[in-house]
Amino acid sequence: MGLLALGTALEWPEAKKRADQVREWGIKQLLEIWNKAKGKERDAMLWGDEVEYLVVTYTKDEQKVLLSLRQAQILEALASDQELAKEGCVPALQDGPTTKSQSSSPLPVFHPEFGRFMLEATPGKPWGIGFKELLDVEPDMKLRRKIAKDHMLSKEYPITLTTFPQIGVPGQFTDPFYPPSGSRLRSQFVPDEIANPHIRFPTLAANIRSRRGRKVQVNVPVFHDKNTKKPWTDPTVNFDLHNWPEDDDERNGAAPSDFIHMDAMAFGMGSCCLQITFQAKNITEGRQMYDQLSPLGPIMLALTAATPVYKGFLANTDVRWNQISRAVDCRTPEEMGEQPLKNDRWRIPKSRYASNSTYISTDPRLREEYMDPDLVIDPLIKAKLMEGGMDDRLATHFAHLFIRDPIVIFEEDLQELDLNKTDHFENIQSTNWQHMRFKPPPAENNIGWRVEFRPMEIQVTDFENAAFSVFMVLVTRAMLSFDLNFYIPIKKVDENMERAHAVDAVLKEKFYFRKNLFPLRPSRANTVFGDESRPGSAMPSRCGSPGLPVDEEYDEMSINDIINGSADGDFPGLIPIVESYLDSVNVDVETRCQLATYLSLISKRASGELDTTARWIRNFVDAHPRYKHDSVVDDVITHDLIGAVVAIGERESAGKNFAGLGIHGLPRLLGGFRGGCGQDSVLDGENGTVVGTDV
Ligand code: ADP
Ligand code: MG
Ligand code: MG
Ligand code: MG
Ligand code: MG
Ligand code: MG
Repeated sequence: MGLLALGTALEWPEAKKRADQVREWGIKQLLEIWNKAKGKERDAMLWGDEVEYLVVTYTKDEQKVLLSLRQAQILEALASDQELAKEGCVPALQDGPTTKSQSSSPLPVFHPEFGRFMLEATPGKPWGIGFKELLDVEPDMKLRRKIAKDHMLSKEYPITLTTFPQIGVPGQFTDPFYPPSGSRLRSQFVPDEIANPHIRFPTLAANIRSRRGRKVQVNVPVFHDKNTKKPWTDPTVNFDLHNWPEDDDERNGAAPSDFIHMDAMAFGMGSCCLQITFQAKNITEGRQMYDQLSPLGPIMLALTAATPVYKGFLANTDVRWNQISRAVDCRTPEEMGEQPLKNDRWRIPKSRYASNSTYISTDPRLREEYMDPDLVIDPLIKAKLMEGGMDDRLATHFAHLFIRDPIVIFEEDLQELDLNKTDHFENIQSTNWQHMRFKPPPAENNIGWRVEFRPMEIQVTDFENAAFSVFMVLVTRAMLSFDLNFYIPIKKVDENMERAHAVDAVLKEKFYFRKNLFPLRPSRANTVFGDESRPGSAMPSRCGSPGLPVDEEYDEMSINDIINGSADGDFPGLIPIVESYLDSVNVDVETRCQLATYLSLISKRASGELDTTARWIRNFVDAHPRYKHDSVVDDVITHDLIGAVVAIGERESAGKNFAGLGIHGLPRLLGGFRGGCGQDSVLDGENGTVVGTDV
């Protein structure tokens, strides 16, 4: 998340009084951007990924793995070295398993994150349209990890697990240790020092709590194993704490049986994800991408599932999404429908972190029936946007985002409205954490309309993270090239998002998905990629029957069918569509081969031939000698799991395969992929059944 300017951050009662001013100035800034940029054309098809890391302190011999809270020092070390590198003084930054392109690419960019134990890294500049560039992503991700590691202590590691299995357990889990129950978070389980100390972050957490009128309630169902008591009570909850008024929350039912109970923003916003931002050629295409990628969100969430453990217990869900949603849910009891509306303006069905509720495209295929009939909007904001020239659909989208209050307001920013800035607009926009984000051009530079795809969970290896990133790029290009139509009613996307949470949802759940993706209107195939395309689409341009009732347009499908195609051939599958797209453009053999390994990973995860990260972690825990089948993931199991992840990372960054690591279940996570094109025996000699602390 980008940092807003430093200043005096207002406490909630003060901030609340200024909320209308921020909204009013925010939409003035938005209209300014709109009027400047609505006709912007021919922006390049750029894209970029964001990878988030946990920083852990791990040694083989010490039993405890801890979260390192040295984010600030690590970022400082990175920044000063990168300054030097710019001046040509630190060539060492470019060492390591890098390839051709890095020498000419700017260095990766590191960003702070909410958790003081987190880092984010993005490429030094966005990726371009070329297919060959897709091969630079994985080496760049590896370079980022190496650079990050090089600026850490020898026992610190950047790891790409979504969540730290022991965050919030009694005793020490951070390095250094701080006792819980600080004034900002008022958590029973985590100290205030867990959050990035930049005033924006503790204020965000404190004001969300304050607006809500109680602590956030991040409850996730426990996974009942054979020795787990039923009903189960979270043994770490203290019902007898009296430090803060909020300690009453637990006594008032915030911690029900059979749920792992968490009570602070850090349990959600301390999770790592993989995000992809695409630049569209113009606003129309951006709006199309926003809509068309939206139904893919839950599918990709389930496929990247990586979050089976919270606070030392196995959860009965596989993904992070709802936990983050609850961790920043600022709604009041009135807004949540628990009390009659008196002081607040409306009931709001979702947290400000949630799947998106609007479609925004001007595509004639967008039927009214796909929209949410109960969408909450601020009608005055909508009217102002439309008076300013914005069309109904986009005005509705922003009038929906603007039902939220700004949470962090700096006194200094309220002196004078600067229409050359976007700070007030971004204040609301960037704290609407939906699974898609429509990003207007920023004020200062020549960036175009962008769309961000936000649901994916981070994967353990850069190979996997590159594979999922590249897959999303290829799906997006196939979508544009074939003018694919993924529309289903937006409420069904919500329902899919819930389904994506189930354990092994990828194999066990069905998801609403559109049956016929192909356009009714003439295809624009091959008009998007200019020189790289050749005439003649490989895909049949099947026509759907116009005027089908909406509920006949979609079906419930397995992810295997959605990704690989249905056995009866009725649904082609996203990977075959991507393959056809690749057939329709010129891709050299080497590139195509590497892309094939990425697609193969995705395909096998979808079919169940390979495990999701969540399944791998569950099996690892289950097979560990310390695991008593009572849902408890203790510090030794955590140590060994993190040890496995560190070992995998070290092998990967050294460009070596994983043979002989002796990590339980690894062959079913990664298959035989790490030998590059044409070699797939990298796990030869792997004993897939050994559970070892010796990694
Ligand atoms: P945020 O955290 O707000 O989503 P970041 O700056 O962390 O934003 O990441 C944005 C991503 O978008 C990065 O991968 C970056 O490389 C990429 N990016 C930057 N400029 C463009 C652009 N013009 N078009 C597409 N992607 C871009
Ligand atoms: Mg981030
Ligand atoms: Mg970012
Ligand atoms: Mg950001
Ligand atoms: Mg982002
Ligand atoms: Mg067992």
